[in-house]
Amino acid sequence: MLSPGSTIGILGGGQLGRMIAGAAARLGYRSHVFTPDSTSPAGYVTPFVTIAPFNDTAALGRFAAAVDIVTYEFENVPVEAAEFVAAQGRAMLPGPGVLRITQDRLREKDFLRSVDVATTRYREVTSLTALRRAVRDIGPHGVLKTVRLGYDGKGQVMLGPDSDLAEAWKRVGGEVAILEALVDFACEISVIVARNGQGAGATYVPVENQHVNHILDTTIAPARIAPELAMRAEAIARHVAERLDVVGLLAVEMFVTTKGELLVNELAPRPHNSGHWTLDACYTSQFEQLVRAVAGLPLGSTERHSDAVMKNLIGSDVEKWREALADPMAKLHVYDKSEARPGRKMGHVTRLLPRH
Ligand code: AMP
Repeated sequence: MLSPGSTIGILGGGQLGRMIAGAAARLGYRSHVFTPDSTSPAGYVTPFVTIAPFNDTAALGRFAAAVDIVTYEFENVPVEAAEFVAAQGRAMLPGPGVLRITQDRLREKDFLRSVDVATTRYREVTSLTALRRAVRDIGPHGVLKTVRLGYDGKGQVMLGPDSDLAEAWKRVGGEVAILEALVDFACEISVIVARNGQGAGATYVPVENQHVNHILDTTIAPARIAPELAMRAEAIARHVAERLDVVGLLAVEMFVTTKGELLVNELAPRPHNSGHWTLDACYTSQFEQLVRAVAGLPLGSTERHSDAVMKNLIGSDVEKWREALADPMAKLHVYDKSEARPGRKMGHVTRLLPRH
């Protein structure tokens, strides 16, 4: 167990890192943030910050020497940087191998298939000819996605029977891509599971996620699904976390199809936007749970004392912070990002409701 006064290294300086650092501080730990950005939401909440690109091995070495363990708040941290830090003798949790799988949509889906977890049908696409062949296999309704560095709908093209495939191939940048069959879903849900080094696991209740322009807009906790389906979703999340051997957190995003099947869409080995409600509505937030897991502490209760609806403040929405505060049952979180660009997650508001 990591003693109070120890330092947790966090690769990435976004809002997730900011909220991890907050949870770490309450347990008596210091956080050291490694970020390429000179102004970052996480960098404002701790005096220990290294500002350097992820390929700066001298800076990574100094960072590793200054911390006791390392985690990441952003799954697009280059695997080489994670491996370099891990090679300095600091435990990297979850391990770099988890990052390697989850930062590549194709590896991720191949992994899920290898552990008997259902996903939508998909094909690897490496050329326009391969795209035409994949469309013949999968059908005309699909989503073409870059395998790397895509999030919040970036690097995605929806395909229909009238789509110009050459144009779609150009739009994903002509890099390796994945074609997924379009899922006819009733709703989207996610489950966050925590695992510590002893293999003890704990799941949060499945929540329902509503997206606008491919970006998470609202999370409803708990999801409005049948209890039997919720149990299946939690079991899938636990199974995936075990098979990936995650120590830390894993968020598992799933589609609930109109036929009542569960198909896993994406994995994230870190705190997740759809778990922000746990800060205000659960006995242990996802951020505290991550700190407990990586520090080797017993996991806390994932039970909720309230139901909740979390709404993201995207771009200029953050200007409405005064209105959010006018509701006494609303909990406002602002990430202190310098520029409210369209599509940028600037904060969130969680409205607490009596638990059902
Ligand atoms: P992703 O970046 O994979 O999480 O995709 C962002 C959002 O796009 C998802 O949450 C869905 O709303 C939508 N989406 C992605 N892939 C598919 C798919 N295969 N079928 C239907 N909707 C999808």
